Amino acid sequence: MLRIFFAIFLMLSVRSFGTDFYASGYTDARQKFRDLTAQAKLEFEDVEFGFVTVPSKTDRDLTIDYVYIPPKDSTEGLVIFSSGVHGVEAYAGSAMQNMLLEEFILPGRLPNQKTGFLFLHSINPYGFKYGRRVSENSVDLNRNFGVDKSHFNIKNTQFTELQHLLMPDKPASSSWVSHIKFLFQALMQMGKHSVGSLKQGIAGGQYEYPKGIFYGGRDFEPNQKLVEEILIKFAKPYKKVLNLDFHTGFGKRGFMHLFPNPTEDKEILELYKKIFGNYPIEQIGEDFYSNEGDFSTFVAGRLTKEGKTAIPMLVEYGTLDSQTYRGAIASLSRMVLENQNYWYGTRRPRDARRIQENFMELFYPSAEGWRSEVERQTRIHLPRFIENFDSLEVTGAVCAEEIRSAC
Ligand SMILES: [Zn+2]
Repeated sequence: MLRIFFAIFLMLSVRSFGTDFYASGYTDARQKFRDLTAQAKLEFEDVEFGFVTVPSKTDRDLTIDYVYIPPKDSTEGLVIFSSGVHGVEAYAGSAMQNMLLEEFILPGRLPNQKTGFLFLHSINPYGFKYGRRVSENSVDLNRNFGVDKSHFNIKNTQFTELQHLLMPDKPASSSWVSHIKFLFQALMQMGKHSVGSLKQGIAGGQYEYPKGIFYGGRDFEPNQKLVEEILIKFAKPYKKVLNLDFHTGFGKRGFMHLFPNPTEDKEILELYKKIFGNYPIEQIGEDFYSNEGDFSTFVAGRLTKEGKTAIPMLVEYGTLDSQTYRGAIASLSRMVLENQNYWYGTRRPRDARRIQENFMELFYPSAEGWRSEVERQTRIHLPRFIENFDSLEVTGAVCAEEIRSAC
């Protein structure tokens, strides 16, 4: 009997100290993060942590939290882990941040003599809290981090051509008839355009239709200024910076993709090779799109301007096999429906429920297997990338062609 009690006690202990990094929502995720940052303060000297509040018309408790853990000896490299640029994608991003803190940073399992760590938790807290990918103003923050206001003059004519498919102005429906209709229209477009050009037209971002998906806004969202101040402050003493920005939704299900904004800049590609080794970097070829105003490019550009070698990288966890036609259409359909429901509602309440559930599955699959697999891959590969970055020799600022305007 005693043995059974002991076994149960052991199981419960393992559960509470182990793998439970996924939170039930924004507030819970933030609390987990704050508990770990408080612990970091006890373990390391000179740890700084805090939060900035994102202004909102409806909610006074939306914060971007951060923790900065400086190196023990000299300030050479800084690794920035960021999550939740696309609100709802922070379920996984925040879990990975908390896992890295608890399993690697706090026990001192990552090189910390000359490398510091900065965690930016939930850059779009509104989206995380309310289950949206965009900000309170329906802006896609990864299309909003431009350098100056000319950014908002970008025209995307292909999006205009695809308006009827991407932003229907009537109540949303999750019936099979609507699905078939969407599928038919999408296939018609695939017959007319190459996949690469369609992806560019759809996901490249647009600045003209506030009620459309991938809308980059007409001005900077307040999140940018708030994050920029934190970045500049903590990156100041460093020579080299690596940003790992967590996202979900694109690519092969349950697979960790390295998916930066495409670059052909030789120096950046050389740095990628040294840090990420043979891990595939998916960015070149006609199936990939580029977009202006993404967070990671902004970070790299802004810090290069300060004379640092700054390397941007998106870490993306695939959910619906968007690399296949079927997965790409399903992903697009779920995004369009969620947005349509937000603006025009649905005729039947159960449609709204189903649309939101499908949207959540796209960015945060409920399957336990998906979650543990994402965690497993991150645990294997990220520490290796960070060790490579730690030993990277840099000579001076590298300004990739694609981010030249920013640096
Ligand atoms: Zn994303």
